Amino acid sequence: MQSIYNYTEEMWKEYLIHMGEKPFRASQMMEWFYRHRIQNFEEMSNISKKFIAHLKENFIIDSLKCVTRQKSFDGTQKFLFELSDGNLIETVLMNHNYGYSVCVTSEVGCNMGCVFCASGMKKKLRNLTTAEMVLQVLMVSTLAEIRVSHVVVMGIGEPFDNYDNVINFLKIINHAKGIEIGARHITVSTCGLVPKIREYASFDLQVNLAISLHAPKNEIRDQIMPINKRYPIEELMDAVKYYISITGRRVTFEYILLRDINDTKECANALADLIGKENIYVNLIPYNEVIEKPYKRSKEETMRAFYDTLYKRGINVQLRKEQGSDIDAACGQLRSKHMKK
Ligand code: SAH
Repeated sequence: MQSIYNYTEEMWKEYLIHMGEKPFRASQMMEWFYRHRIQNFEEMSNISKKFIAHLKENFIIDSLKCVTRQKSFDGTQKFLFELSDGNLIETVLMNHNYGYSVCVTSEVGCNMGCVFCASGMKKKLRNLTTAEMVLQVLMVSTLAEIRVSHVVVMGIGEPFDNYDNVINFLKIINHAKGIEIGARHITVSTCGLVPKIREYASFDLQVNLAISLHAPKNEIRDQIMPINKRYPIEELMDAVKYYISITGRRVTFEYILLRDINDTKECANALADLIGKENIYVNLIPYNEVIEKPYKRSKEETMRAFYDTLYKRGINVQLRKEQGSDIDAACGQLRSKHMKK
């Protein structure tokens, strides 16, 4: 049995043709599955009885089991979901002034091994299917009774290490007859898988790209992000420039401030030299400390100073305020706590 949520409109079209049905039914099916959120194939009044019978035998309208749900004083909510094979994943809902944003997990565990991150303490067990990512958005929307306006693929896992499923996920949540999240309201974040950044440049949806940079020099980045040994900063920046040249879109650089590691004035200036001012945006992130890790959040005044240096150099920069720290919302913390119990 396949989940219906694994299929993009294109995939349904091919499937319908294969079954001797009209391909335009695919668009109607998307509407039933995502706009009306049907739980029963019989509700599809404009689809033939024969095809419905076939769907019932081969597909399921599935869901995720919500194991834990935590609410923060600031409105952030964190969900721990159990997958059909018993694996656990985290999904976060953030309440911003511009709408509700869901942070989606893309893999069970992660192989990237960034030293500061709680997710990587568990190696990747498998990729999430497209359906398991789609269901995170659907389930959160249902459980919290809200309309999701933004999606960030910044939960556990490296989305570009699960590229094809992530691309199909993006097509489904963006679909006009479905959940209809605007491409410009969707962001995929990568630690820097260079060949995939280049491939993503040709993806025809106007989805945003964020790069977890976290250091302006190889000496530092090598120490905290193993991926840098495979794709050093020069190659990463070439890929980013290529992406901007093809898409014309702005790229966001994420930069966690780690005390005494990457938060000096020298680092801020090196960062400004590296990225320039054109078509880029910098998100400075206060580090969410992880019990098992030795890393500390930068001091308030250090973060301010880092911000000021970039700002004075004319860079589009924001110092992100932290959300959900009281509910272990930092990348992989809830899951790792739950697994220890
Ligand atoms: N693998 C992807 C997406 C998942 S991580 C990537 O690396 O971009 C999403 C973001 O959270 C990344 O920028 C990551 O470096 C950051 N992050 C990980 N652990 C963190 C922590 N404890 N505090 C703050 N940010 C963290």
